[in-house]
Amino acid sequence: MQKIAVLGSTGSIGTSALDVISRFPDRFKVSSLSANSNTGLLSRQIKRFRPRAVSVVDKRRAREFAKTHRRLRVYEGAEGLCSMIREVEADMVVVGIVGSSALLPIMTAISRIRRIALANKEAVVMAGDIIIREARKKKVSILPIDSEHSAIFQCMASGGGSGVKKIYLTGSGGPLLKTSKKELRKVTPQMALNHPKWKMGRKISVDSATMMNKGLEVIEAHHLFGLEVKGIEVLIHPEAVVHSMVEFVDGSILAQMGPCDMRVPIQYALTYPGRDVSPVKQFNFSKIKALHFYSPDLSKFPCLEMAYEACRCGGTYPCVLNASNEIVVREFLKGRIRFTDIAKVIQRVLGLHRDSGNPGLEEILEADRWGREKTKEILNVVHS
Ligand code: MG
Repeated sequence: MQKIAVLGSTGSIGTSALDVISRFPDRFKVSSLSANSNTGLLSRQIKRFRPRAVSVVDKRRAREFAKTHRRLRVYEGAEGLCSMIREVEADMVVVGIVGSSALLPIMTAISRIRRIALANKEAVVMAGDIIIREARKKKVSILPIDSEHSAIFQCMASGGGSGVKKIYLTGSGGPLLKTSKKELRKVTPQMALNHPKWKMGRKISVDSATMMNKGLEVIEAHHLFGLEVKGIEVLIHPEAVVHSMVEFVDGSILAQMGPCDMRVPIQYALTYPGRDVSPVKQFNFSKIKALHFYSPDLSKFPCLEMAYEACRCGGTYPCVLNASNEIVVREFLKGRIRFTDIAKVIQRVLGLHRDSGNPGLEEILEADRWGREKTKEILNVVHS
């Protein structure tokens, strides 16, 4: 029986992970759950999965929650989440937390848990060098859940991890693929959230609309698979059938295909290196008339170009890119800035940043704070 900690259990990845886990009652047992503030759903998950402990990041909610769940160990706040990871035994952790707040929980997990099923990309963007180095040192396996990275991971398994020439990171192009460059100014949060292929959380949906998501995924792939930026090509693939591809030195190209259902990459990470039956819909090739692939228009999606550039520069640039993006996306979702301001503000913040070179965890956290503060300063100017 494998004990699994599910972090971010009330989010899109977390609920899918629990769905997968529930189908293997004699293989997996939930040891702990964590939520940000959705204690209603967390209560229902506790009844169903009976974890030994839970953690609620919102401290006020955590205290209320503890009063009504007296028999359960309830950890509160961001520090509480790390304490739970340290103290409650698990064989594997599923990281479904969104954004940079996953970084410290991941670093804590690396010191305690042997297998990390990772859906969060922001932490890898911020501190990929450190995460990969520590994981190697501690012999911790990082199993990607992000669908593209799971696809690459699955394709690479065939080559035993070597002989890779390049990877093709595919993306559907998001909800604004057909929107003209001129019309982008008028894009509302509602429009940006309306992803054609995947049902996802709000932040990642906006990132898909700006294609920042694909940009963050380029940086994520660079770290997870140890590839130079020039060996990572983004392809727009509107049908979203091919989830990514790997080209080997002998000219052979492998693709991983299937339905757009996050339970596939989640289950692969959980059952790796084996495979098992899943509830996803049978794929029907005869219904697909054609598959299209083309290069993205970087002038229409400047966030993708910025991410490439930040990855080439390295150091704390990717961290600042991510920090700034988290702030502007939040402002956009609140209706305070235009869609096209997202890229403009991040660009200005990156232009003001000075990297100190080869950052440690402290410098990364400092760059994250700096990126957020600088973004807020610039946004105040945009507002007034
Ligand atoms: Mg993805």
